[in-house]
Amino acid sequence: SDLKNADLRNLAELGQGNGGSVMKVEHVPSGTVMAKKIVLIDAKPSVRKQILRELQIMHSCKSPYIVSSYGAFLAEPNICICMEFMDKGSFDGIYKKVGAIDIEVVRQVAYSVLEGLMYLYDVHRIIHRDIKPSNILCNSQGEIKLCDFGVSGELINSIAHTFVGTSIYMSPERIQGAEYSVKSDVWSLGISLIELALGRFPFSDASSDDEDNDSDLEGTEDLKKTATNRNSLAVKMGEKTARRHSRRKSKGVSLHGGGMTMSIIELMHQIVKEPAPRLGPEGKFAKEAEEFVDACLLKDPEERKTPRELLAYVWMDQAQKSTFDLKEWTSTF
Ligand code: ADP
Ligand code: MG
Repeated sequence: SDLKNADLRNLAELGQGNGGSVMKVEHVPSGTVMAKKIVLIDAKPSVRKQILRELQIMHSCKSPYIVSSYGAFLAEPNICICMEFMDKGSFDGIYKKVGAIDIEVVRQVAYSVLEGLMYLYDVHRIIHRDIKPSNILCNSQGEIKLCDFGVSGELINSIAHTFVGTSIYMSPERIQGAEYSVKSDVWSLGISLIELALGRFPFSDASSDDEDNDSDLEGTEDLKKTATNRNSLAVKMGEKTARRHSRRKSKGVSLHGGGMTMSIIELMHQIVKEPAPRLGPEGKFAKEAEEFVDACLLKDPEERKTPRELLAYVWMDQAQKSTFDLKEWTSTF
């Protein structure tokens, strides 16, 4: 493609993440509004070109459940990726604005994400690797789509040096060093669904064995920032060290004030050692929903279901047959 910065006019900043920032832009020659992701990467020219080549795969990803791509280009020292602009933003922003999300909407999110994962894997052999509410986008047509999937191994490598690769949505096996599989994405989906239905991140330090009992985790933003900094640390330290750190944490590791009491290391420890979170409290949600989320959050990846198996669940059957008006729903915020 012949996309270039000179043809793009900045309209607004949409957000910032680990890897860079996202701008709402207008492609002036065509009048098309796009989302431009700017990623700062520290890589040799040869690697940058390789990344660009790999990003071309995005262009051939065509599915109603995947944010489409207009192309990518180098704007030294950044790589810019232009994609479909989703005017209702991401689901983390939505629940932070409107509170806990109606379970019928959550069900349609689950269905769309599964369809997106199936498409990426079956058609392109791509594992998403970063399923989380901020990578699930929505527009005023009532469409739900995935973005930021791992098309480029070289891009992942280039960014991994600094931070990404670890997130608070990581599966127990990934925390313990296993390779990515589509089942790791399923775990992240399960955590994300609970987060949307509860209106908050589902892990808390309630099971923590020290005096610090301020278990309010609405400081998910803080936690994310902590995660960013401590990533490689948590992974590379290994369990014993992480546990030791976790013991003497309350004054040591937990950096952020303002109610955030759980360090990334404690969180990783909890994900690996404690029972998986569940959709609750008991009785609040339909058992079909509980059953589905439980199947996403089986701790053993062997037992955990694949996207295809999950699509056969009753809850997903209901999603497919649903007449719920998502377009109407998006007009309420
Ligand atoms: P993260 O996903 O970790 O939040 P990103 O840099 O990927 O960080 O994205 C920052 C924010 O930009 C997202 O939270 C999302 O709200 C917004 N965003 C990303 N892509 C799009 C898009 N295609 N359309 C609209 N908003 C987007
Ligand atoms: Mg993102």
